[in-house]
Amino acid sequence: MKIRSLFAVALAVLALAACGPKKTAAQLELEQTAPAFTAGAHKRLVAMDLDATLTQHKTPLSDTARAALDKLGEKYHLLMVGGGGVERIHRQMLDYPIDILGNYGLEEARVIDGVWTITRHEKVAVDSAEIMRKTEFFREKYGYTKYYGDPVEFHESGMVTFGLLGTKAPKEEKLNFDPDKLKRRAIYKEVCDSFSNHSVFIGGSTSFDITPKQYNKYDAIMKYAAENGYSKDEIIFIGDDLEEGGNDSHVRLGGLDYIYVHDYRDFPELIKPLLSRP
Ligand SMILES: [Mg+2]
Repeated sequence: MKIRSLFAVALAVLALAACGPKKTAAQLELEQTAPAFTAGAHKRLVAMDLDATLTQHKTPLSDTARAALDKLGEKYHLLMVGGGGVERIHRQMLDYPIDILGNYGLEEARVIDGVWTITRHEKVAVDSAEIMRKTEFFREKYGYTKYYGDPVEFHESGMVTFGLLGTKAPKEEKLNFDPDKLKRRAIYKEVCDSFSNHSVFIGGSTSFDITPKQYNKYDAIMKYAAENGYSKDEIIFIGDDLEEGGNDSHVRLGGLDYIYVHDYRDFPELIKPLLSRP
């Protein structure tokens, strides 16, 4: 009887563990292969992603996340690097004073003498008719013909967001749409081939982000680093989307050290090695 109840407890524990967030094989591999941050490494710049790294998608910065940033900021220069525009990121961070690269580097904002200031806002012309034609093709082919709001969002910078549920989908529906990104991964290569003059990222919760070819988070960080006197080995990146096609993937491919985040609630724990350094 005793053994039987022990067995029942063990089964219950296993069942509970199985209910936790599942990691894909690729995510597990990323965790194992993520360059270990060594105490002797001379890092000065912490660049990071926002959505699903520090906060839930498009959700305001929590007090916990803010406190973690405050602590990091005491030891490192901080840089937010996002797919969204700088103003949207700034609002989501509740005006937290931090340098931001937005739209994969098309936009930049810096804190100058304590004042958050937009310092660059590039605008690249896009052929909107061509974009619409191509995205409609994918909607028809894969059955994403029902959407909320507009089918495509054209950003001022020239970045395009192709959200499979449209621009005005309810938040819950968006979060439940493709949490493991499998729907978008299934057609990722085909979208890339179709937009061969662009960079394509699996961004946000339902969308593909499409930028002019030369824009991606790695090049954006390296440009910022060159302008501000940081060498490559002085930078560490924190992000959730480092897998192939992910909007942080160029950072890994470019060879920057990184910390991989599987669940944004782990952020304060994951940065402890950075904080424990003298
Ligand atoms: Mg992210």
